[in-house]
Amino acid sequence: MERRTFLISSLTGLSLLALTGCVPPKPSPTGTPTPSTTPAPSLVPQPQDMLRSSWSDDPFARGSYSFAAVSSTPQQREDLAEPILERLFFAGEALSDTAPGTVQGARGSGQRAARALTDVAEPGERVAVIGAGAAGIAAARLLADAGLTVLVIEARDRLGGRIHTVTNDSWPIPVELGPSFIVASGAHSLDEEFTGLEVSHAAFPTDPEARTPEGIVIPVSPVGADAVSAALAWAAAEAQDTSLAKALVATGSATLSLTDGDAGVSDADWLDYQLATSTTLESGALTEEMSGWYAPTPEATAADDTRIVLGGYSTLLDEDAADLDVLYSSVVTRVAHSETSVSLRLGTGESLTVDRAIVTVPLGVLKSDVIEFDPPLPFAHRGAIAALGMGVLDKIWLRFEEPFWDTDAALWTTVGDDTLDFRVWVNMMPLTNEPILVGFVSGEKAVELAKSDDTTFTDAALRSLEPFASVATATPAP
Ligand SMILES: Cc1cc2nc3c(=O)[nH]c(=O)nc-3n(C[C@H](O)[C@H](O)[C@H](O)COP(=O)(O)OP(=O)(O)OC[C@H]3O[C@@H](n4cnc5c(N)ncnc54)[C@H](O)[C@@H]3O)c2cc1C
Repeated sequence: MERRTFLISSLTGLSLLALTGCVPPKPSPTGTPTPSTTPAPSLVPQPQDMLRSSWSDDPFARGSYSFAAVSSTPQQREDLAEPILERLFFAGEALSDTAPGTVQGARGSGQRAARALTDVAEPGERVAVIGAGAAGIAAARLLADAGLTVLVIEARDRLGGRIHTVTNDSWPIPVELGPSFIVASGAHSLDEEFTGLEVSHAAFPTDPEARTPEGIVIPVSPVGADAVSAALAWAAAEAQDTSLAKALVATGSATLSLTDGDAGVSDADWLDYQLATSTTLESGALTEEMSGWYAPTPEATAADDTRIVLGGYSTLLDEDAADLDVLYSSVVTRVAHSETSVSLRLGTGESLTVDRAIVTVPLGVLKSDVIEFDPPLPFAHRGAIAALGMGVLDKIWLRFEEPFWDTDAALWTTVGDDTLDFRVWVNMMPLTNEPILVGFVSGEKAVELAKSDDTTFTDAALRSLEPFASVATATPAP
């Protein structure tokens, strides 16, 4: 059942009857049943060190990045960015009109809010920026450079928010628990800034090596990407937005063949592959939650100008923040605004009043109501907060004594077993010469695993690595 469960799990909420009616039964083997055998011992060694993220459990993020949920619209990102009474301004990746869900989008949004604020502020005004992530620091830098008195208020004891670089003696390279990549590098991109900061970054080959559970290397079939493209094209022509899951059913994906093709991989497996290694990874959401109108297309997710930051992503903020006044470990719990000022209450009970403020807390935090707004936010803001989705992507970094794998590919994926949790891996060996692997888990699996302890989390990751350690490794498909 492994390879058939995905449609049912990813299309939860749809009529199972409709699905089971569509899915032809996979021929079951006849003859003498094979006697059960003890599973072979794992060929994946225990790592020497492990670091992981749990973004859905993080009270100051409550998810990894925003996504276009069913019935949400890009206009709602704009609605949320709308200043209130020229006193309260908003920024963050979820409000980016050009690159939501990215560092670049977050920075651009912070700069946009800061420019809107400086347009109306008097010289010398006091401004609070809530949140010291990419958006908050970009905004604060611009405000300070414009001569305003800026105070950044940050709940954590560090800069960066979802940019979280860990450097310690156990790890020979900086570990990124948040972003690693510069997406869509090139014009207006961050790569030149990293170069200017002397932070190493490299072109990242986005052509993945795909392996079956048996470790057989198999060329990626376009069947899955084609099925998603067909579903999105169907959804685009509908009068109302519908989920990607429903669009997949409507365009016949539920009837994709389950018959084993090359190396035992069926067409249905290739759809699962597309969803697990690309579509869901990009949004961090289930197909039933994703907008059929605005979900990322396979073409958009297959960008080939991606770069990976190797020398520490957080360096990007350090210089901008160097002379800024940042109040750490200070959780804002209430934001009250009037026509003349903004008053903030902190978790400690302290209060302060400023002329204006920029709120850059993540969409997940806005959804959770931990910050009380007085008066309540306007309807359009609340509508946007409720409608936009917050997806989940988590990472595990594993450091091994020496490589147990035999491939030089930088990007690994697996096809044919939807019970594996980590379907995408980055091999740091060709990039840094260090035997370090970075695994990615997204959507529902990430939410479930986030609750587990480190041992369970690591075991799930090591099991997902079996195809790269199998005796059949690097066997090309016939
Ligand atoms: C695992 C993962 C991988 C990613 N990979 C990439 C990638 O490769 N490339 C890419 O471009 N993007 C990537 N992203 C997305 C990128 O990290 C975010 O879009 C970006 O960092 C968001 O910046 P921000 O300033 O909007 O929010 P944040 O960085 O979340 O900043 C908001 C700040 O507000 C603070 N805060 C929250 N609540 C309060 C409160 N009540 N009071 C005071 N402060 C508060 C938070 O602590 C935080 O510091 C990834 C994200 C994750 C989680």
